[in-house]
Amino acid sequence: MQTGTGAFEAQHVVLNLTHWDAAKLVAPGLARPLEREVRRHPDAWAACTLYLGVEDVFGDAAPYHQVLLDAPMRSSGGQAVFVTLSRRDDRLAAPEGQRAVTMSCHTPAREWEALSDAEHDERKGLVADELLGALARAFPAVRTAHKPVVMPGTPRTWASFTGRHGGRVGGLPFRFSTLARGYPSGALGVPGLARVGDTVFPGQSVPACAWGARRVVTRLLDPR
Ligand SMILES: Cc1cc2nc3c(=O)[nH]c(=O)nc-3n(C[C@H](O)[C@H](O)[C@H](O)COP(=O)(O)OP(=O)(O)OC[C@H]3O[C@@H](n4cnc5c(N)ncnc54)[C@H](O)[C@@H]3O)c2cc1C
Repeated sequence: MQTGTGAFEAQHVVLNLTHWDAAKLVAPGLARPLEREVRRHPDAWAACTLYLGVEDVFGDAAPYHQVLLDAPMRSSGGQAVFVTLSRRDDRLAAPEGQRAVTMSCHTPAREWEALSDAEHDERKGLVADELLGALARAFPAVRTAHKPVVMPGTPRTWASFTGRHGGRVGGLPFRFSTLARGYPSGALGVPGLARVGDTVFPGQSVPACAWGARRVVTRLLDPR
């Protein structure tokens, strides 16, 4: 195997990459099964996020919330928003009297790819407005609270932060159509080469990735 830091021999090589990124990394002779996965599964979730430093209007609220909206947001298409509040006494996260708040929702990665810079920036502003609106549904006092930090993130942010193709950080849509096309199993049909991560069954989340990687490694070690 040839890498950026030299060549080495290995019995098994496991790529912890999406099929888009793996297809770009491997030698051309090995890319075909990955390119097939790209054609079979062109859709993946990206994320829209909002990072806030905000006046503490949360009282004794629990740290984790999921806000379910009546209709999808225009900016992301998301209708369910994850919210995490920093602990009230966490001075590393926020100064006295303020809280750090992180928010995220899924968004279809491909919808962001055709946007011009101007269209992207406009939509990014809408991400911030709509996620703030979602937060205010759960905590109305947020509307008028002082907000010294308001940082939205889009699939472009995630592409530059993680290096993942198009900011695909949310796995494949877990729909019947995805399953019917055959959710990637990690096997590539190339002896000794496999793939793990959140675009391999069962998909997104740290526990799901760990479980998926166990399945892949078990099969590599005992391919019967
Ligand atoms: C906003 C957001 C919130 C989330 N919240 C949660 C949550 O609360 N709970 C939860 O369980 N999951 C959550 N997730 C999902 C979870 O983060 C992912 O499903 C999981 O991290 C994916 O793991 P992975 O191994 O596929 O990819 P990654 O975590 O991206 O790991 C891939 C690793 O490979 C490295 N790498 C890439 N290319 C190379 C290369 N060429 N050479 C060497 N190394 C390389 C990268 O640096 C990285 O360390 C969240 C995701 C997002 C985006």
